[in-house]
Amino acid sequence: MTRGYPAGCVLPCDVYDDNDKQLRIAFDFDGVIVDDEAEKVYDKSKDLELFQHYEVINRDKPLKSGPLMTLLKKISFFQKLDCKKAKEDSNYKRMLRIAIVTARNAPAHERLINTLLKLDIDTDELFLLGGIEKKRVLDILKPHIFFDDQLGHLKEASKNTPSVHIPFGITNKDDLDSMI
Ligand SMILES: [Mg+2]
Repeated sequence: MTRGYPAGCVLPCDVYDDNDKQLRIAFDFDGVIVDDEAEKVYDKSKDLELFQHYEVINRDKPLKSGPLMTLLKKISFFQKLDCKKAKEDSNYKRMLRIAIVTARNAPAHERLINTLLKLDIDTDELFLLGGIEKKRVLDILKPHIFFDDQLGHLKEASKNTPSVHIPFGITNKDDLDSMI
């Protein structure tokens, strides 16, 4: 932002349900909530096994904050209040839910979970998709907004899900180079 780039690019989407009383926010993990440290390892080698190995040996080392960590922490504050109210009142309907929809899967999930535990962030939904297309989950989950740093994931997903491209990190290196 301080360098003149947008924090995110909202993609075109015609679908929106005004009658939904609950707000659901979905995030990708690497390059969005946390930095692109792990994405860099994969980008350099294109070797999934090497990436998984790197994440296993670093599982107890929390990842550094990414572009939307501050936003997630703030939303998490309200989500905790929402959860507390739901525990106190069985008739209360949750107003806010947080989901993470990531291509990570086992065994790389441990570092994700350890990072969130360290930050005291508790997501309502966590989808560890491996090679499964994100659109398949998002079409069911129906978040009101989804943030991802990979346009490849967003091209299909944004047809039915309001989506924001986060244009930073190694994934967007070529795009950023062409903008400079
Ligand atoms: Mg990512």
